[in-house]
Amino acid sequence: SSGALVTAEMVDDVARKHFPPCMRNLYDRLKKDHHLKHFGRLQLGLFLKGIGLPLDEAVVFWRRMFGATMSDDKFNKEYKYNIRHSYGQEGKRTNYPPKSCQQILTQNQPGTQDSHGCPFRHFSPDNLINFLSSTYPSIDKSSNEMRDILDSVKSTHYHVACTRVFEITHGIKKGDGIGENNEPVTHPNKWVDRSRELEKE
Ligand code: SF4
Repeated sequence: SSGALVTAEMVDDVARKHFPPCMRNLYDRLKKDHHLKHFGRLQLGLFLKGIGLPLDEAVVFWRRMFGATMSDDKFNKEYKYNIRHSYGQEGKRTNYPPKSCQQILTQNQPGTQDSHGCPFRHFSPDNLINFLSSTYPSIDKSSNEMRDILDSVKSTHYHVACTRVFEITHGIKKGDGIGENNEPVTHPNKWVDRSRELEKE
């Protein structure tokens, strides 16, 4: 990670500029519904820890996102412990790392009520097209780029599809990937790190 500190206040801006599709989906759903199911909170929460959101800011962030629909009492009793737990401050005190693409693709397959997982792997083609075109204005529904992405998904090359979205949304050419050696996306946190680096260049 880039080592920079992210506050609860900053998350929205970082999300719009630097979140990969899986995390944009979770964040946007949380913002809209003031709610995420367990594996969604876990996937997004560990990712946020990885981008530099410290524990005290994570508590502020989740409290704010749940909003007035939840009492302080319920938040403190049912959610605060889990946030502290994922930062290694409760229970076995394991400092859980953020999930890699491989883990997100293969573990805990999402049901219909869930928002976790990888959009390339877990969305229907129609949902994927709607999600990508509404989230990223530079990816038009009927563009060649969209066709490219759907072709990669069809052949189960989800990393390739995700890398293509990174390239298009960062104005870099096809095949450049997200690293110095043109790597594909293999970890959501690497997407963020590279995206922040490119912003500075
Ligand atoms: Fe997220 Fe990885 Fe899927 Fe991209 S390929 S959306 S980073 S899980």
